Amino acid sequence: MTTLTREHCLALDRDDTLRHLREQFALPEGVIYLDGNSLGARPRAAAERAAAVVAEEWGDGLIRSWNSAGWFELPQRLGNKLAPLVGAGQDEVVVTDTTSINLFKVLAAALRVQASRDPARKVIVSESSNFPTDLYIAQGLADLLQQGYSLKLVDSPEQIEAALGADTAVLMVTHVNYKTGEMLDMARLTALAHAKGALAVWDLCHSAGAVPVDLAAAGADYAIGCTYKYLNGGPGSPAFVWVAPGLRDAFWQPLSGWWGHAAPFAMEPGYRPRSGVARYLCGTQPITSMALVECGLDIYAQTDMQALRAKSLQLTDLFITLVETRCGHHPLELITPREHGRRGSQVSFAHPDGYAVMANLIDRGVIGDYREPRIARFGFTPLYTSFTEVWDAVEVLRDVLDSGSYRDARFQIRSTVT
Ligand SMILES: *Cc1c(COP(=O)(O)O)cnc(C)c1O
Repeated sequence: MTTLTREHCLALDRDDTLRHLREQFALPEGVIYLDGNSLGARPRAAAERAAAVVAEEWGDGLIRSWNSAGWFELPQRLGNKLAPLVGAGQDEVVVTDTTSINLFKVLAAALRVQASRDPARKVIVSESSNFPTDLYIAQGLADLLQQGYSLKLVDSPEQIEAALGADTAVLMVTHVNYKTGEMLDMARLTALAHAKGALAVWDLCHSAGAVPVDLAAAGADYAIGCTYKYLNGGPGSPAFVWVAPGLRDAFWQPLSGWWGHAAPFAMEPGYRPRSGVARYLCGTQPITSMALVECGLDIYAQTDMQALRAKSLQLTDLFITLVETRCGHHPLELITPREHGRRGSQVSFAHPDGYAVMANLIDRGVIGDYREPRIARFGFTPLYTSFTEVWDAVEVLRDVLDSGSYRDARFQIRSTVT
């Protein structure tokens, strides 16, 4: 391999057919943003959209905007825009609530389906390295149901197959691991779950908009995910829910709020679920935040996941190679799989002083983040990250490590949010 240079990266940027998409984002000067896996950057259109929602739709339209501005149908309309990114059909997805809340709903629905098929199935299988909220929600639901449900955790994806059995109700896994960036084989694991009579719930928080996902082809049963990471919906923007069409009518809503009611404005005293995806809704949605989700989704309409995936792998390959060749004399350990088929759109390196190294990088304008234990996480968003930025970020990392500047006391102080 020829030695990589900054000129080489500049040439990659010149040849990048997705280069123009960066102009759709407002990124501050002097910052290399490698944390789109935690909070996506702001689409330029979001400021104008927010102003219009607040001043015109809310300010002028007032209550009329539920009808005239399409607020009431917004969860379904956005769901339809998001659907192609995850291999879902039209009228199969809604944007609503949070990932934690949507997981509670689909897990409850899945357990209910299983209880009607085979009441002996009481176990939810997941990974101990799954994002904590997923595990906490499953624990909370099992406690609430008080019927002997339990969570069985395995310590690595290789152990999933052996953990599935006649007692398994649901396999609940995250497609791309938030910490390691490892991607699981959705079709294979779903087939394994089905072969054992279990249903498969997939968390797409680090996949939606980051890697090609085909829920239908994988035969998945339920999926949830957030819109504020790779989809650039804005801080705390609402999440999404998908249910396989064959399970939709059996979807039992544990949070049976009025938005999921068959006739929300009939104001009936008894709950009756709406038909179709609207039954995944609970109550009134944060419309100002939800409206901004569209700005992120509209950018995806200008490209396709295959092109984004190709660039994402090029970016992560380049980052891994540069860190290993230029910072290889430091105790950095790659914990993200090298194999393309097992990698999402982020790269994680463990370092004994991972927190301080990341704090120092952020201070120098290279924004990634930190996850326990010792892990420096770098997210690569092919919509706006350039190859030259990858080069420049590694040069800053090299300087931080070579100079030992991260040992400075101010980089040891933990912020509330890491
Ligand atoms: C980011 C993330 C969440 C976040 O859930 P919220 O309800 O939005 O806080 C959940 N699960 C996974 C796997 C995540 O990566």
